[in-house]
Amino acid sequence: MSTHRNVIVVGSGPAGYTAALYTARAGLEPLVLEGSQNGGALMNTTEVENFPGFPEGVLGPELMTLIRTQAERFGAELVADDATGLELADAVKTVRTHDGEYTADTVILAMGSAYRRLGLAREEELSGRGVSWCATCDGFFFRGKDIAVVGGGDTAMEEAAFLTRFADSVTVVHRRGELRASTIMAERARQNPKIRWALNSEVVDIAGEDRVTGVRLRDTVTGDERLLDVGGLFVAIGHEPRSELVRGQTDLDDQGYVVTTGGTRTNLEGVFAAGDLVDHTYRQAITAAGSGCQAALDAERHLSALA
Ligand code: FAD
Repeated sequence: MSTHRNVIVVGSGPAGYTAALYTARAGLEPLVLEGSQNGGALMNTTEVENFPGFPEGVLGPELMTLIRTQAERFGAELVADDATGLELADAVKTVRTHDGEYTADTVILAMGSAYRRLGLAREEELSGRGVSWCATCDGFFFRGKDIAVVGGGDTAMEEAAFLTRFADSVTVVHRRGELRASTIMAERARQNPKIRWALNSEVVDIAGEDRVTGVRLRDTVTGDERLLDVGGLFVAIGHEPRSELVRGQTDLDDQGYVVTTGGTRTNLEGVFAAGDLVDHTYRQAITAAGSGCQAALDAERHLSALA
């Protein structure tokens, strides 16, 4: 089989698989580099209750398997390999993987972004069992609970405020005595009667067998430790878009997100980007899928113009 493609999609989350589905249905026979861990961020979660079409909710891995199967049904070729090198500037793009090299007329970048982790031993194990990185996604599951939010920036303030809709109390845990958040966001949080503060504190351990039951906090000034009883821990210390491969090629903003203009176009002809790799703001499965669709349509139009 030829290694030259109309379209190569890099990434296998909702954005990548949706781009694959649309380009496959358009007869473009896309090649999808799924990465060594396919399915994206939702593979790490349990119930997804806000993806339209699933009134009873759907398990994250099940949702991703369904979108994957749908893309495959229309002829997307899925390869369980990472893109290890990209040359995107010329009309013919080169994509290297551990196992080989491909060329393509268009490339859709959908590598997602990673939530920054605290780096605690039990963090991954309790992910989806009380540890979360997304209040919009999971806040609903924490009705009537006490929750801790780690972080001192605007995102942490926003997540904390949002979580007070569900939780009995939200304790903001921040390493320093001062917040990093903008004055207005910090002030809003301070005025929220459900928000409590654990400043000069860091989480050093997570308690609970099957679910989070508390977090161990260490005072960053005195070194004293205490257990805070909470049923949930939201980590809001930032994101890292997986844009290392395209650094120096596509334009990135100051936080490393790929910059797109006019839909999903990057600064390079024939290179499109979608999902959390470009998205500071929404970071939802449905928005990632939506922009994957846009990238596919943009790539299709680009290819039609070349023909
Ligand atoms: P991702 O899903 O991150 O997928 C990117 C993929 O690209 C990954 O599979 C990665 O391995 C692959 N990749 C990266 N680099 C390479 C490479 N070099 N070569 C090949 N492949 C590569 N959203 C909701 O709407 N509802 C929810 O309930 C919800 N719950 C969540 C729970 C958790 C625990 C997390 C972490 C996120 C949750 N989200 C939820 C957010 C949602 O998962 C993301 O917004 C969405 O997955 C982003 O999709 P994406 O396709 O842009 O990227």
